[in-house]
Amino acid sequence: MQAKTAPKLPVYLDNAASTPMDQRVIDAMVKCLSYEGIFGNSASKDHVYGWQAAEVIDNARDQIALAIGCSPLEIIFTSGATESNNFAIKGLARALNKAGDKRKTIITSSIEHKAVIESATALECEGFVVKLIRPRTDGTITPEMLDEAMDESVFLVSISQANSVLGSMNDINALAEVAHTYGALYHSDCAQSNALIPLDLDNSLVDMVTLTPEKIYGPKGIGALYLKRSSNIELDPLISGGGHEKGLRGGTPATHQIAAMGEAFAIMQKERTKVCEHLESLKNRLITGLKEIPGAHINGYMEGTDTPHLPGIVSVSFDKVEGKFLIPTIRGVAVSSGSACSSSVVKPSYILTETGHSDELAMASIRLSIGRFNTEEDIDTALKAIANAVNMLRKA
Ligand SMILES: *Cc1c(COP(=O)(O)O)cnc(C)c1O
Repeated sequence: MQAKTAPKLPVYLDNAASTPMDQRVIDAMVKCLSYEGIFGNSASKDHVYGWQAAEVIDNARDQIALAIGCSPLEIIFTSGATESNNFAIKGLARALNKAGDKRKTIITSSIEHKAVIESATALECEGFVVKLIRPRTDGTITPEMLDEAMDESVFLVSISQANSVLGSMNDINALAEVAHTYGALYHSDCAQSNALIPLDLDNSLVDMVTLTPEKIYGPKGIGALYLKRSSNIELDPLISGGGHEKGLRGGTPATHQIAAMGEAFAIMQKERTKVCEHLESLKNRLITGLKEIPGAHINGYMEGTDTPHLPGIVSVSFDKVEGKFLIPTIRGVAVSSGSACSSSVVKPSYILTETGHSDELAMASIRLSIGRFNTEEDIDTALKAIANAVNMLRKA
């Protein structure tokens, strides 16, 4: 693991947005580009260039299947988690509608990634109904909360495993069980948890899972949708074309991206324990340091509960700080605001307001997300920079 010590560049603590690629992943990708490499079209059945590409893709499918505990036949490649979410939600809604299914309701949570919420709400103009469940203050939804919201009109529940801002995790197997009680299917956006948290999908009730390598040291622009075979799911294709991916997703499979995704999942599967220990240890160091700053609140926790969390994400809010100045005042650390910028107005993050924070506190929030390549020095640098910024803003 190399430290990120290039001069002038800030310490990178935004790994939940994207991670740098592992060199082994880059090597796997580069092998699929040039004339000397495996550059063919995997759909070319008439020559060795095509056969080699198909073999690379089969191998990547095997690597991913092994990492998430399913059959390679259950994995469909897409262009990323956003497309996978769109495909799962729109594809199922439209296929059921074509089959004459009368159920019209999709349930999701109000703190899902926009790729989930907007895939669902985009269907409203096609006659579908979207019900958003508001989570508890720790960012989770319990099976009881889902049960309360369910009825026989629901055909799909889509609730993620881990929240991308809070890091808090749902028990997706228990939620899927509730969905099934009402005859609905269950989809989960696992773009944050991916192969970092063992999914063991063969022994899970979850029907569809969104995956991407870009948060686990793989490339952007590639992802997958897991479709449980025994659930017999019919999806209407989003991208029509030449019958690739069992006719579900047209377009020449991006061999280099797929090879890299396979490698990223294989590395995570082999090194999961080591990576998680590293992230947990840095996270504990970070939380301990943040708690020493007066008026700091660590978000995504709830008294009297023992919510599981991703090993690398910390969301923190500060009392008595003008939120819009917080990030510009933190020097030398790349973090994410808890806020979403839309045109000229900075708005507080919906994830924080939906979990019960005031607009003021939500604005004065940052997400720090730790990656494999971060070091203890990075954490100490960040803690100093954050404490300084908070002090300066309170004096101002
Ligand atoms: C990053 C992320 C996405 C989007 O992933 P892309 O591969 O960039 O489309 C979707 N959902 C969650 C939870 C994410 O963290």
